[in-house]
Amino acid sequence: MATPVTVGLRLGIGAAPPSGAALAIAGERVPVQITAGPTTLRGEAVPGDTGVAVEGGLAVLLAGELHSGPGGAQLLLQTWQRYGPAALRLLQGRFAAVVLDGDRLTLATDHAGSVPLYVRAVEGGLQVATEAKAFAAGRSAALPGTAPVPGPAGVLRVRAGTAVTVPLGGGPAAAIRTWRPPEHREALPPDQAVTRVREALEAAVSSRIGDGDVTVVLSGGIDSSAVAALARRHARGTVTTVSLGTDAGDEFDAARLVADHLGTRHEELRVRSEDVVGALAWAVAATEIVDADVLEYLLPLVVLHRALPAGPRRVLTGYGADIPLGGMHRTERSLAPLDAVIAEDMATFDGLNEMSPVIGAVAGHWTTHPYWDRTLLDLLVRLDPGLKRREGIDKWVLRRAVADLLPEKTVRRPKLGIHEGSGTTSTWTAMLRAEGLPAELVAAAKGAMATAIHARVVGLGESPEGLDVGEVLRGTVAGKRLVAR
Ligand code: AMP
Ligand code: MG
Repeated sequence: MATPVTVGLRLGIGAAPPSGAALAIAGERVPVQITAGPTTLRGEAVPGDTGVAVEGGLAVLLAGELHSGPGGAQLLLQTWQRYGPAALRLLQGRFAAVVLDGDRLTLATDHAGSVPLYVRAVEGGLQVATEAKAFAAGRSAALPGTAPVPGPAGVLRVRAGTAVTVPLGGGPAAAIRTWRPPEHREALPPDQAVTRVREALEAAVSSRIGDGDVTVVLSGGIDSSAVAALARRHARGTVTTVSLGTDAGDEFDAARLVADHLGTRHEELRVRSEDVVGALAWAVAATEIVDADVLEYLLPLVVLHRALPAGPRRVLTGYGADIPLGGMHRTERSLAPLDAVIAEDMATFDGLNEMSPVIGAVAGHWTTHPYWDRTLLDLLVRLDPGLKRREGIDKWVLRRAVADLLPEKTVRRPKLGIHEGSGTTSTWTAMLRAEGLPAELVAAAKGAMATAIHARVVGLGESPEGLDVGEVLRGTVAGKRLVAR
């Protein structure tokens, strides 16, 4: 069974393709070579089944999928013929796109930048890839609508909700925004807000389940349980739910309660908590970030995807619901600070790569996150914070929106972060402390480990396979001068 979408690209446009490390994603490499007018675009798509559409002087390459309708790259091509770059403000999806239109090249991300896209402007053209490690060390000429990437790769990242157009014959490049997080709020009547959240979540899940089997990574919290319930309702194939636990903790009972209620095919996977921390090289290779807090959330998911039997799978998660709903701030009782953290988190998510498809694609799976569907996210961010915390209940509007689908206990269940439920945070801390590291240096040591691993797997293109995270941990404690944060 093929992965349903092209996940990764590596391309040279008027220049050689980037010559760094292999993309970390699994799957067949399909060569791409397109000539439009004077320009040749060549490289690879992984896997290559639906990601390319060409007509006359117009070529579209799509890593990811569109949710506005079927057809992938072909749909973008047809929409572009009618609207030009404004097509990128119209279509919704989880994608990075490269569009060659005559002598102009456009690089675009979806509204959330959920499929990272990296670029280097070189003599005569551009090098583009969906992973920074694909570039050998070097530098890029400046481009609007981009940001530099941490570490030694010397490449630029196309910002979230942005389309960058570069005239290949010379002349200034320009960037447009295709989406921005809303900054105003709407005080809808509570019943109406609940109905609209339900409708938008239902549409977000049904546009992501494809026409075959789906897997939902299920903690048994409200976010992933709601996704599982709606997947069960709309899927044409079998819905499998999977829950990850370790020796340091699990949420198996909560997930099992939901799975039994919904009648999903349910799997429990238990791994050693030290092996979750040991997957740090894979998490860094997949996300290409150095933020240890974010890596801590993502480590269990990387482990889960790699442990899933029989792939490739289409995987739905409940990831990201807490950002527009303020779920991480569940003990915050006043609405002003709750809304302030929501505004802050929505203004600063770009570049964290939390939703990068590479996180699942290192194991060949296609992951997708319904709460960051553009329509749903737009609605959730805009809602009056008094609908997010109401009657002393966090994420009130979401809980009410799916109350009819889930056990009452699930609807009422307080949030537990994946890094807490799986014991990832505490295990990583304990491993550092066991080497004699004082408690006040733990946060700095986690950051230093992430940076050291990033320099190797992204900067130097080393494979995460052979990288010994334990050795990095011991080296960090023994050798580095850490400063308490
Ligand atoms: P959380 O940090 O709990 O919001 O986790 C984000 C998402 O990761 C959830 O919505 C689930 O889809 C998934 N997830 C969290 N914990 C687990 C777990 N123990 N097993 C499987 N999936 C999980
Ligand atoms: Mg949770």
